Amino acid sequence: MTTVDDLKRRVADLLAAYPPESTPRQDFLDARFDAGLAWIHFPEGLGGLSAPRSLQSVVDKELAAAGAPDNDKRRIGIGLGMAAPTILAFGTPEQHQRFLRPLWTEREVWCQLFSEPGAGSDLAALGTRAVRDGDDWVVTGQKVWTSGAHKSQWAILVTRTDPDVPKHRGMTYFLCDMTAPGVEVRPLRQITGEAEFNEVFLSEVRIPDAHRLGAVGEGWKVAQTTLMNERVAIGGTEFPRDGGMVGVVAETWRERPELRTSELHDRLLKLWVEGESLRLVSSRLRQQLAAGAPGPEGSAVKVAFSELNQAASGLEIELLGDEGLRYDDWTMRRPDGVNFLGREAGYRYLRAKGNSIEGGTSEILRNIIAERVLGLPSEPRIDKDVAWKDLPR
Ligand SMILES: Cc1cc2nc3c(=O)[nH]c(=O)nc-3n(C[C@H](O)[C@H](O)[C@H](O)COP(=O)(O)OP(=O)(O)OC[C@H]3O[C@@H](n4cnc5c(N)ncnc54)[C@H](O)[C@@H]3O)c2cc1C
Repeated sequence: MTTVDDLKRRVADLLAAYPPESTPRQDFLDARFDAGLAWIHFPEGLGGLSAPRSLQSVVDKELAAAGAPDNDKRRIGIGLGMAAPTILAFGTPEQHQRFLRPLWTEREVWCQLFSEPGAGSDLAALGTRAVRDGDDWVVTGQKVWTSGAHKSQWAILVTRTDPDVPKHRGMTYFLCDMTAPGVEVRPLRQITGEAEFNEVFLSEVRIPDAHRLGAVGEGWKVAQTTLMNERVAIGGTEFPRDGGMVGVVAETWRERPELRTSELHDRLLKLWVEGESLRLVSSRLRQQLAAGAPGPEGSAVKVAFSELNQAASGLEIELLGDEGLRYDDWTMRRPDGVNFLGREAGYRYLRAKGNSIEGGTSEILRNIIAERVLGLPSEPRIDKDVAWKDLPR
């Protein structure tokens, strides 16, 4: 059993062998991974020590205090939050060895090729085809809203491999090389003016069978693991008390007394309390995640996070008045990641609109909470037993 002292000793050994002030960043990340101090709950040899995930903060704090470099969680968020847990759960030993180290050390950035025009909320309706050809699969179709595809080397991809069975049963999950011939990435601009995401066209892209994740036809099961992790990764982000979006508004409140009104004060207090509740619930959820698979409860923090961000960013605009509306940089930009807190209020307000859509819309997540957490009757699903090819599209 790994103890706090044990972890502190391992961190001290790492720092002694690779002094942060004289070790190049990438070398330090490699050494940290090899020492099992990357994600300590992962198995030994794969960047971890099979230690309780709750002790990760011990490692992170010690390394931060020593000025050690870290990977950029915003840049590799999809890899860390979605691809890694899915590869760990369903990957072969060869896939573990091949993909997890470059993913964590930021050598390879990942994106998520799930949504399609006409298959977003109803992901199981997707039509991107994968057809077996010898040791390869040949993939053709279109994906949409692919965050960060333009900077990614790899993608998690769900495809249709059997159109003759009902939609949930005929899917297969792959790890797709974004530099392979036939992958075309085109920018899509959003309300902030930035092009954070893309359309991705797949034209006869060859994927070796060795890059299939999970069994043929079991893509829905694999995708569920990704989606449940995604909700916790988006909604359960760790932030300190008085942190996150509400913390930014509270800071403006403290620094700018001339903007205050009693009505805004009441609203801010209410949001602050909600923020604190979300922080505590997220913390409990991360512990549950540490103990095993994330449950459908992750949907609740994702909904709460979206609503809180939208309410807080709206309140900030009202508080700042004309100043808050000043967002006027519409130049075409391709950001490396989303940075809410380091940006102006107008940007935050516009970008927060996407929170209740990305990673599953709030309506869909409420359905999940109703059915899978509260045990209420399911929505009628008339297409459950119909072959995918016979569904109206
Ligand atoms: C910022 C951002 C980043 C994204 N990044 C990625 C990414 O990296 N990779 C990726 O694959 N996708 C990504 N997406 C796509 C996202 O997952 C989809 O937009 C989302 O799943 C909704 O699908 P849709 O847009 O097709 O809307 P639709 O499914 O057409 O839904 C339209 C509306 O109908 C509602 N609705 C649909 N079905 C039901 C129902 N049964 N009950 C109640 N209401 C329903 C929805 O909630 C929504 O309000 C991103 C989206 C955003 C906004």
